[in-house]
Amino acid sequence: MTDQQNGSDQRIPTPNGCRWCGLEAREHAQRWKPPVGWHKWEPPTLEQRKERMLARRRRRASTSDTRSALRVLTLRPAF
Ligand SMILES: [Zn+2]
Repeated sequence: MTDQQNGSDQRIPTPNGCRWCGLEAREHAQRWKPPVGWHKWEPPTLEQRKERMLARRRRRASTSDTRSALRVLTLRPAF
């Protein structure tokens, strides 16, 4: 099963958006989105919130900033 299609990052969901589709509760109503199909707004997991906030920050930052930020994230102290 494919995880998700991450083709476009043009619209990063708000940190508090639905865990399935990223819409805010107030504009949600019912949505169809694979793989869940029809669903109501559900609170995102902590991880999702974190990810979204990071994504927004990343998007705002310049490419070089993103690179160094990523390096910091992936770098682990060897000792
Ligand atoms: Zn949703």
